[in-house]
Amino acid sequence: MSEKKQISIVVPCYNEEESVPIFYKAVCAVIRQMDRVAFEFLFVNDGSKDHTLQQIKKLAAQDERVKYLSFSRNFGKEAGIYAGLKYATGDYLAVMDVDLQDPPEMLLEMYEILQQGEYDCVATRRVNRKGEPPLRSIFARMFYKLINRISKAEIMDGARDFRLMTRQMADAVLSMGEYNRFSKGIFGWVGFQTKWLDYVNVERVAGKTKWNFWQLLLYSIDGIVAFSTVPLSIAAVMGLLFCGVALLMTIFVIVRTLLWGDPVSGWPSMICVILAVGGVQLFCMGIMGQYLAKTFMEVKKRPIFILKETNCEEPEQKD
Ligand code: UDP
Ligand code: MG
Repeated sequence: MSEKKQISIVVPCYNEEESVPIFYKAVCAVIRQMDRVAFEFLFVNDGSKDHTLQQIKKLAAQDERVKYLSFSRNFGKEAGIYAGLKYATGDYLAVMDVDLQDPPEMLLEMYEILQQGEYDCVATRRVNRKGEPPLRSIFARMFYKLINRISKAEIMDGARDFRLMTRQMADAVLSMGEYNRFSKGIFGWVGFQTKWLDYVNVERVAGKTKWNFWQLLLYSIDGIVAFSTVPLSIAAVMGLLFCGVALLMTIFVIVRTLLWGDPVSGWPSMICVILAVGGVQLFCMGIMGQYLAKTFMEVKKRPIFILKETNCEEPEQKD
């Protein structure tokens, strides 16, 4: 008989002391039904300020399948996913939130689908946005429409980070070593065959979400800057457009002066034009600034995360 395949479940956690044990129990109940597969939990403690790490260590002491990575400070969920995928040893890798918003039962179906060999990844998207402020939903929809228009990476509306993928795809994700990690874009960018499963949004079991509207807005700008250079082209096109308008207006003013003389007037309209042009210039500089800032962060080549402690073995280097 061939050796058992292994699934590693990567779980980024930030201040989730209440959710960790509930999550562990719920997932154990599911994986008991999957006796042909071995499992590994890989909790990533993303610099939590509560007792998340202690909770994880407690589980690790009882169950040798529980592995953990603990960061020196909060590096963000994206860094957590990256570190988890890097240290996980499984043939298949799952990414799951610890708040049980990602139904563990779906792992069964996901694994079945991957087994058939047609797909490299099974991902999930929620079909409704229940429990979310309406304004946030509207902006989210607009964001997905926009980014899919201006970027090559296919980014699914309502996609969650909950997914099960093959080692091959995970390695492709890891080969993208960028500092500004926008996971939804990265998963889309690497390609491979992805099957999407729909499910109805569930609310988190405990604790509260780490996102407010402002953070989501900044995050969406990060996503756009990371996966598209179209805003830069828009700035250039706007510049050209304004030059064209300026030329037409100059001709108009010269002709009018030659025909009818030059009575001094139009001061208010002049101010409007100056303000409009100034505004557009600042806007375009802001766009350039965004790209420059991201480039600045990338060229520093800072590590994506810093590990403080772990019970994992060093991953083998694949270059
Ligand atoms: N998370 C993390 N680092 C952070 C923020 C969040 O590892 O800086 C984890 C968090 O513990 C949870 C997952 O990312 O497991 C999703 O977070 P949350 O539930 O707040 O996001 P939402 O589900 O509302 O999108
Ligand atoms: Mg959540």
